[in-house]
Amino acid sequence: MTRKRDFVLAVLPLALAAATAHAQAPGNTAVQCGALVDVEGLRVLGPHTILVSGERITAVEAGRVAPAGATVVDLAGHTCMPGLMDMHTHLTSETNRDAYSEGFRLNPPDYAFRSVVYAERTLMAGFTSVRNLGDLGGGTVSVALRNAIAQGLVKGPRVLTAGKSIATTGGHADPTNGWAKAIQGDPGPAEGVINSPDEARKAVRQRYKDGADVIKITASGGVLSFAKNGQNPQFTLDEAKAIVEAARDYGLTVAAHAHGDEAMRRAVMAGVDSIEHGTYMSDATMKLMKEKGTWYVPTITAGVFVGEMAAQPGYYPEIVRPKALAVAPIIQKTFGRAYKAGVKIAFGTDAGVFPHGQNAREFELMVAAGMPPLEAIRSATLNAAELLGETGNLGTVAPGKYAVSVHSVPSLTTGLRCAAASAAGWPRSVPSTAAA
Ligand SMILES: [Zn+2]
Repeated sequence: MTRKRDFVLAVLPLALAAATAHAQAPGNTAVQCGALVDVEGLRVLGPHTILVSGERITAVEAGRVAPAGATVVDLAGHTCMPGLMDMHTHLTSETNRDAYSEGFRLNPPDYAFRSVVYAERTLMAGFTSVRNLGDLGGGTVSVALRNAIAQGLVKGPRVLTAGKSIATTGGHADPTNGWAKAIQGDPGPAEGVINSPDEARKAVRQRYKDGADVIKITASGGVLSFAKNGQNPQFTLDEAKAIVEAARDYGLTVAAHAHGDEAMRRAVMAGVDSIEHGTYMSDATMKLMKEKGTWYVPTITAGVFVGEMAAQPGYYPEIVRPKALAVAPIIQKTFGRAYKAGVKIAFGTDAGVFPHGQNAREFELMVAAGMPPLEAIRSATLNAAELLGETGNLGTVAPGKYAVSVHSVPSLTTGLRCAAASAAGWPRSVPSTAAA
């Protein structure tokens, strides 16, 4: 491939930083790095030492430093960087040929056990924080997963979750969309389906009650739902405004899934924090997003993957195939246009629509569409931290920030090496000793 891609690989080897408050306190540690990625300055610095006490970075010093009594982690052959952050994942599910019938056979515990596997795979791929935007299993599985990771019971990235996505009747996240009439029922705000501003507010409040960190709405039709149109606007402006107002009251941000341009326009006008996918985004909407400071989370990987799978007869239902084939060639071009237009971009993949652990493929697609490698890395670190409102804790290697996010790992040293091995492992394999 291109030299640009090689560069991305060269700087991926160590995912450092991020974490929950649960990390074991290992005493003082000096992480000696062969190089350090400065995501604020968009440059790669020479050898640096990161000093860590407990779960936080205390200092970052040029050269190789080894304070008396500190445990030294020698990463002279590695480049250190902040932990990667994916702003669009679905940790409770993963694409498969039976996905469209599983909803009739699986119970929440089935999704829960699967999510443990997907969370660990995501962490070992170098991603130390994720936003989970939509949850199969009723909406509380990802909340339980987040808590179990934070408590050190299972291995995974820091999770901020939306719980169940909020849709309108027949819309992209209506949980009985596509079912036979006799079993459809009439899902309402408790199930994340609304049809008025009042119901929109109730649905947001229910998500808050469920323990969500963020609100996700499906502002337009979607590719994989059992429905004909993947672009139609599915919320009125008043409904979207009610969502945002209620979310603000509860201290929650709002992420809006949208492929169609009118749906995006309404969501941006309503004040959502991020547009997800954005496939058919017009120049006018890009301009509006710049004016409003709205983030764009591109999920190119998912668009490309569904196009690949739609070429296989029978993988998706026939009603889904044409939508998947249409999105695939457009989404990467839209990303390139949005980048050139100066829209704020935060890294996100829609992992789960494709197999978990392949999140880093998004870097390759972003760089191929015209974003310089260091900016792609910044979108997955500092920009993501800004979108989450977590720049005090995450996003750069700097004093005061979290130092390591690997849970249930005996020592900080081992945790760092796991992160290094996993990130370096994409897309190649690495010697198994590196993952000790
Ligand atoms: Zn998604």
